[in-house]
Amino acid sequence: MRGWGRLDGPGRVVVGDVELEATRAVVVGVGTRAWAPPIPGLADTPYWTNREALEATEAPASLAVIGGGAIGVELAQAFARFGTAVTVVEAGDRLLGPEEPEASELVTAALGRDGVAAVTSARIQAVRHGPDGFTVEVDGRDPLVAERVLVATGRRSDLRALGAGSIGVDESAPWLPVDDHLRVVGARRTWALGDVTGKGAFTHISMYQADIVVNDVLGREVVPAAYHGLPRVTFTDPEVGAVGVTEAQARSAGIRVRTGAESVPASARGWIHKAGNEGFIKLVEDADRGVLVGATSAGPWGGEVLGLLALAVHAEVPTTSLRHMIYAYPTFHRGIEAAVKDLLGS
Ligand SMILES: Cc1cc2nc3c(=O)[nH]c(=O)nc-3n(C[C@H](O)[C@H](O)[C@H](O)COP(=O)(O)OP(=O)(O)OC[C@H]3O[C@@H](n4cnc5c(N)ncnc54)[C@H](O)[C@@H]3O)c2cc1C
Repeated sequence: MRGWGRLDGPGRVVVGDVELEATRAVVVGVGTRAWAPPIPGLADTPYWTNREALEATEAPASLAVIGGGAIGVELAQAFARFGTAVTVVEAGDRLLGPEEPEASELVTAALGRDGVAAVTSARIQAVRHGPDGFTVEVDGRDPLVAERVLVATGRRSDLRALGAGSIGVDESAPWLPVDDHLRVVGARRTWALGDVTGKGAFTHISMYQADIVVNDVLGREVVPAAYHGLPRVTFTDPEVGAVGVTEAQARSAGIRVRTGAESVPASARGWIHKAGNEGFIKLVEDADRGVLVGATSAGPWGGEVLGLLALAVHAEVPTTSLRHMIYAYPTFHRGIEAAVKDLLGS
């Protein structure tokens, strides 16, 4: 049925004036909504979220993008290529903060070539809207004037609107807590999947979890959910594919880290590709276990090259096996062999 559902105790959902009782399971897959930070004035303006940006039928003359994460940089580049003058305003000290610093550098340079300006470590004081468009006041800089403002500062769930308290979940929590069978912790007959579980805001997480939920609800055997090999791709040009943890995350987790890298232009395929061949492969190894715990493949088809690396991290393939397998010539994924040699020192 079509409608807005609200949990009403274990196994019960209310949609308008219809009350539903599940004999077996309630599965919550409500996703998240774009979240806007409490910047003075912003809430009173007709700012865009990703939704309005994607519904636009004409490119604005100028656009200020607040937030330089994956969605912010993807849309910044897309609009720039439609002819919009784009400025990305990011609070952190680099774009694509959760990814490797080398990826931030690559994407910042690529955006620069498309005419996108990036302002990092930015403190926005206020956003105003008037007949001449938007004004974004950033600490220590001239005000930024733009026809449109796109807010891309993350996404949040709303457990209160969902009625999560009725199944015993703390409604002020950011996500529905789930176990490795995706059962909502402390709630009977309730499963959750996707963004609302906080395990990674990606379509493939939602689908991976859905498979587990279906099997668990039907009483079939379940392979418990594991997220150590979570892949993701930022679809800028060049693409940034990444899996597992970054070098910094591995180090702060106390892992003895070894890294290896190869630049795409230095590879045979990168040389053949010529223009637009910027990119790199970076590997992060748990040196004590001799397996990769993270990797990045950025460049042309970076998201496709990621496939081999995602398997290596997921299946914990020994780096010595990666060193002695055969990589087809002249492919982009052959860069992985060079990065493994760099990591192992031979
Ligand atoms: C601009 C953008 C680009 C993205 N690009 C990628 C990408 O390239 N790759 C990738 O993997 N992921 C991408 N994502 C993330 C991806 O879209 C989400 O991770 C994914 O859609 C989450 O799936 P979900 O099933 O949890 O929720 P959703 O796909 O959000 O679906 C939830 C649905 O539930 C409905 N709903 C919500 N509350 C209720 C309620 N109370 N009652 C009834 N219905 C309700 C919503 O209207 C919605 O239709 C992107 C997201 C954005 C915003």
